[in-house]
Amino acid sequence: MNAPTRIDIPRFATIEKAIGALKPVEPVYCLHPQKFKIAAQRFLEGFPGDAMYAVKANPVPQVLDLVYAAGIRHFDTASLGEVELVRSRFDDVHCHFMAPVRLPGHAKAAFEKYGVVDYVVDCDYELDKLIAETKQPQKLRVFVRLATQLGGALLELSSKFGTTPEEGARLLKRVKEAGAAPCITFHVGSQCLSPFSYAQAIEITRRTVALAGLDIAALDIGGGFPGPYTNNDVPPYHWYFDTIREALATLERPGLPILCEPGRALIAEGLSLITQVVLRKGDRLFLNDGTYGSFDELTLPGWNADYPNRVFTVDAKGRALPLPGEIKPVRVYGPTCDTLDVLPRPQMLPDGIGPGDFIVFDMIGAYSAAVRTTFNGFYPDNWVQIGN
Ligand SMILES: *Cc1c(COP(=O)(O)O)cnc(C)c1O
Repeated sequence: MNAPTRIDIPRFATIEKAIGALKPVEPVYCLHPQKFKIAAQRFLEGFPGDAMYAVKANPVPQVLDLVYAAGIRHFDTASLGEVELVRSRFDDVHCHFMAPVRLPGHAKAAFEKYGVVDYVVDCDYELDKLIAETKQPQKLRVFVRLATQLGGALLELSSKFGTTPEEGARLLKRVKEAGAAPCITFHVGSQCLSPFSYAQAIEITRRTVALAGLDIAALDIGGGFPGPYTNNDVPPYHWYFDTIREALATLERPGLPILCEPGRALIAEGLSLITQVVLRKGDRLFLNDGTYGSFDELTLPGWNADYPNRVFTVDAKGRALPLPGEIKPVRVYGPTCDTLDVLPRPQMLPDGIGPGDFIVFDMIGAYSAAVRTTFNGFYPDNWVQIGN
């Protein structure tokens, strides 16, 4: 039995209470357990299949614990390191190795040591390697990754991964001949703002299955479900689920096991970040966190969303109060000595903001802590919990 290591995290009733009590000069990540529950419920109740949490979006143990506590029992562990991480915390969960490129020996270890039976391939080389390493293909479900059309998502994932329906059909036949269960997966791209992208990809799935002339054993429709950031028109989740359900009906395979791999959608809203203004020079602000810390994703090509913010100032009695003022665009820099450490778009902030004030960025759970660096001696790693 691997009892999860208990992580003691200071608790506060509200973010204002945390700011007032800590007046933190370093960034503080704030976990909202209730928001993890709401996000997981959306998938557990609305998605017509099993939702796996894509660990790479945020692998911090206290985040994994809240995803687990919210009811998620399937994990998209896309490296041996992620399999080990999840297995070291939870006994009663399923790990799925959903990366199409695996380091030599890692499928063997995942299969033999951790009992992982779900794998992805998008080429012959990885399929051969998988079968050679696990030696028992009849125990495996092998998901052939299809490329999807670009355009629906802010960050595409189909120029690096996935294959065509023709190649996919050939691979599916090879999977079946090897004795494994042939399955299909795709990823429409991250922060996908178009529910129709899933329908298009399911149509590509239908064509691939028809070309292969066999029955698939499961379909994994990947991740991509968006976070409700500012500057993005995010359709309601039920549009995605309704569109997916309708598209799945065209496969005419009632009872086909369906999976999805949301990363962002299960955790984006569950985390806020308290930052402090260090310096103001004219209309430029310097914060205690930046693009080498929690804000990397804002700098990605094609990305145009921003995290919603709230600004607080602490009064003489130590209470955090909203900072009033006219909202104006302000250039925001991170604390490192690098010129590139600047948020790519001006942030909308009250005009009186200055050193010592706090900016809370909400919905910052995905691809923030996961990709922070220790560059220049800065590493945001303070954690508190807000509410129960
Ligand atoms: C990154 C990734 C995910 C998670 O994507 P989100 O956009 O965060 O939902 C799921 N599956 C695979 C294969 C990925 O690479």
